[in-house]
Amino acid sequence: MSDLEERARELDAADQLAAVRGDFVLDDLDHAVYLDGNSLGALPVNVPGAVEDVVRRQWGELRIRSWSESGWWTAPERIGDVIAPLVGAAAGQIVVGDSTSVNVFKALVGAVRLAGGPASGRDEILVDASTFPTDGYIAGSAARMTGCTVRAVAPDEVPDALGPRTAAVLLNHVDYRSGRLHDLPGLTAAIRAAGAVSVWDLCHSAGALPVGLDAHGVDLAVGCTYKFLNGGPGSPAYLYVAERHQAAFDSPLPGWNSHAEPFGMRSAYEAADGAVRGRVGTPDILSMLALEAALKVWSRPDVSVDAVRAKSLALTDFFVECVTAYVPEGRVEVVTPAAHGERGSQVALRCADAGEVMERLIAAGVVGDFRAPDVLRFGFTPLYLGFADVERAARVLARELG
Ligand SMILES: *Cc1c(COP(=O)(O)O)cnc(C)c1O
Repeated sequence: MSDLEERARELDAADQLAAVRGDFVLDDLDHAVYLDGNSLGALPVNVPGAVEDVVRRQWGELRIRSWSESGWWTAPERIGDVIAPLVGAAAGQIVVGDSTSVNVFKALVGAVRLAGGPASGRDEILVDASTFPTDGYIAGSAARMTGCTVRAVAPDEVPDALGPRTAAVLLNHVDYRSGRLHDLPGLTAAIRAAGAVSVWDLCHSAGALPVGLDAHGVDLAVGCTYKFLNGGPGSPAYLYVAERHQAAFDSPLPGWNSHAEPFGMRSAYEAADGAVRGRVGTPDILSMLALEAALKVWSRPDVSVDAVRAKSLALTDFFVECVTAYVPEGRVEVVTPAAHGERGSQVALRCADAGEVMERLIAAGVVGDFRAPDVLRFGFTPLYLGFADVERAARVLARELG
């Protein structure tokens, strides 16, 4: 056994989260390593039974009574309150529903309206220049609708780009391609000082590292639940509206579920108080309740965001160490920052033939993903990955890189 294999054994033996792996369905095969939990989290073992109950009993037997008796109607805010502590938010500020893309739209138009918009001289939206594409596309439309213009800015340069014309700033907490973690506390403070409204996209941070929405004074945030929160394919996203903004939050999609009295069926719209104001239409109950079951893992006494973060940094450090040891120098470039304060829960490696390399890796059982044009992306979900997995993945990678 090599030194690194030996180290992996020791690290696994000392891992406080090692037992949590049993809560997930993974391959039994020794050679398989799933490093794509930042695209689609693995299936928690309790989810199939929970979904079976929702379908057979709640829908099949109780039918319409389930809207009240099974808690369907209040699921968006109830599950929002389960996500809240994972992102550092007090209860009552998060509502679950719709896709991240739709929530980016609600949040960004809402942010421009909160800031006063063009009528008050704030007619510019700043968007993370390296953003996940959907955020940028939606920002373009939100800008046209609100009479604003969009400017793409590297997150580091946001403080210099802010000014009296800035209405809202849309940033990704962790860059989906490079795995870089941006300075949420510092950037949020700078945005607030400029009188603008911050919108953070937490897709690649929620469930992987502490976010501290309340502590850092974030205004609005969105995120998905099928990556590090393991909610399942297409599980609904969420919207955070800080309590201090809720009364003034003016959703661009004021569906009947956000009405103060939804069953009053009134022709005049009157927004509900609180997080419910972020709802739109009838919630997607099947995937929402699958998500609720998936989130149960976070109530285990041995699971906490801090423990997950500590292990995530140890896993990614160890992966880079193994890659450096096994892969000939110069064959790949580590794109993800080495500094812990600047790293999410993934490692991105650049090489010209990344697309073909990833195909070979997947065929060999090591599943990561390829991000055009030249990035090999590996996501590390501390709830179900161990150090031996990481060492093996690096070894197979070195072999496939040839
Ligand atoms: C994954 C991801 C999305 C996905 O948006 P959907 O509407 O769920 O398809 C959006 N933004 C970021 C930053 C992401 O990483």
